[in-house]
Amino acid sequence: MTRPKLVVVGNGMAGIRTLEHLFQIAPERFDVTVFGAEPHPNYNRILLSPVLAGEMTPPDIVLNGLDWYAQHGIRLHLGRAIVAIDRLRREVVADDGSRERYDRLLLATGSTPFVLPVPGRDLDGVISYRDLHDTETMIRAAGRFTRALVIGGGLLGLEAANGLARRGMAVTVVHLMPWLMERQLDAVAAGMLCDALRERGIDFRLAAKTQALHAGPDGRVAAVELESGERLAADLVVMAVGIRPNIALAQAAGLHCDRGIVVSDTLQTFDPRIYAVGECVAHRGVAYGLVAPLYDMAKVCATHLAGVGLGRYQGSTTATKLKVTGIDLFSAGDFTGRPTDEHLSLHDAEDGVYRKVVLRAGKLLGCVMYGETHSAPWLMDLMNSRADVSAIRDALLFGRDVETAVERAQQEAQAARGSARARRDALGDMDDGNARPARGEQDHSLATGGIADARDTRASEPRAMQLKAA
Ligand SMILES: Cc1cc2nc3c(=O)[nH]c(=O)nc-3n(C[C@H](O)[C@H](O)[C@H](O)COP(=O)(O)OP(=O)(O)OC[C@H]3O[C@@H](n4cnc5c(N)ncnc54)[C@H](O)[C@@H]3O)c2cc1C
Repeated sequence: MTRPKLVVVGNGMAGIRTLEHLFQIAPERFDVTVFGAEPHPNYNRILLSPVLAGEMTPPDIVLNGLDWYAQHGIRLHLGRAIVAIDRLRREVVADDGSRERYDRLLLATGSTPFVLPVPGRDLDGVISYRDLHDTETMIRAAGRFTRALVIGGGLLGLEAANGLARRGMAVTVVHLMPWLMERQLDAVAAGMLCDALRERGIDFRLAAKTQALHAGPDGRVAAVELESGERLAADLVVMAVGIRPNIALAQAAGLHCDRGIVVSDTLQTFDPRIYAVGECVAHRGVAYGLVAPLYDMAKVCATHLAGVGLGRYQGSTTATKLKVTGIDLFSAGDFTGRPTDEHLSLHDAEDGVYRKVVLRAGKLLGCVMYGETHSAPWLMDLMNSRADVSAIRDALLFGRDVETAVERAQQEAQAARGSARARRDALGDMDDGNARPARGEQDHSLATGGIADARDTRASEPRAMQLKAA
């Protein structure tokens, strides 16, 4: 019996994750064909930054090798872009003119990097940061040249800057806004991050606008001119100024798009035979640029493709982590809030620790953490579960461990006091009032004091730490 045909356009993280779920639920349901514009099997795009920094290699980041596609009977077309969708005939058209029929079509075309419309943007040596090809271009450039300039101080720009600096280039980051990663960090956390990156040799121009890129005598980019008139020498310019959902194909096929390809909660487009997942999608008006929401979409979409779909994708709370070794940073949800929300923060400038949480009606709305992020998964759970956190406000800043450690220490202190009293009773009249607890007991009370003091000091120490409730 011939099986219905599923064609996937985009061999990236969201499309292939959907297939992984589908094969778990209904391995035999479709005859599957995948088209990928890149010449590689499915890889973990997130890990391009460790590859750039020299901490991993391209083979390390492959998610599904060619054997996986063969094992599932997938017809894989690598280095082959789909250029049109013929919805009347239910066919896709590839860039070599070949056509493939579909019963169900899954669009997972990701995003394209935004290129600043400035003079010189097409010069040799000016690139974006999106795929393995860009990463390999940067690695080659770092072997030949010395000066790199990254336009954009967001997550990608900073990871690119760090990687190039790790490979020995002198790197300057030009950022339009007054502080780095302004969509994920507040000014305090961003300032700490900027200082840490400066210590690693990366230079910054903040609140600076790129005016033009200039070529050298060999035609390659040689300098970047800022609106202020400053000219910065550069042999390599990396533009990391944002992404746009890749909707051209869907739009040309007449599918409804706004910020992305518009999908319902079942990840279906306005054509019921066509589904879409990943960064190319606009769901309830939101286009995501991080992988966790796309994986949530993939799960739901797979059940509907399998014909057993009851689940609905209802949107995701996003969290960000910067992949720069040695810098711990986490941000999730709405950390700006409204003036009427409860804003709690803790800042230990000396130890390089900053935490901020925003609460609304007793629920955790968002958080920023810099320097120490071990309670991030817990905060994320609290945010997603919309639990009432009013009773554990301190723990939100100091971490769940502090609450349990204090409780344990209090119990131990009580036991120690009990045993000291028993000893005093035993010593009876011989006690001159200077009796000290035995060694073990002293340790217990020190432990209590240690933890309680640490907590008290944090709450009241004006020099380094502040606990602000507004
Ligand atoms: C350097 C870097 C670091 C990142 N770090 C993080 C991180 O730390 N955390 C996080 O959550 N996210 C991170 N991201 C974002 C994350 O990688 C993306 O959210 C995710 O890869 C998007 O998955 P996708 O499948 O929608 O798109 P992609 O993974 O981009 O896959 C889309 C694929 O479709 C192909 N394609 C497009 N059009 C066509 C066509 N017409 N025909 C055939 N093929 C086509 C593209 O070539 C591409 O291979 C990072 C991204 C980059 C670039």
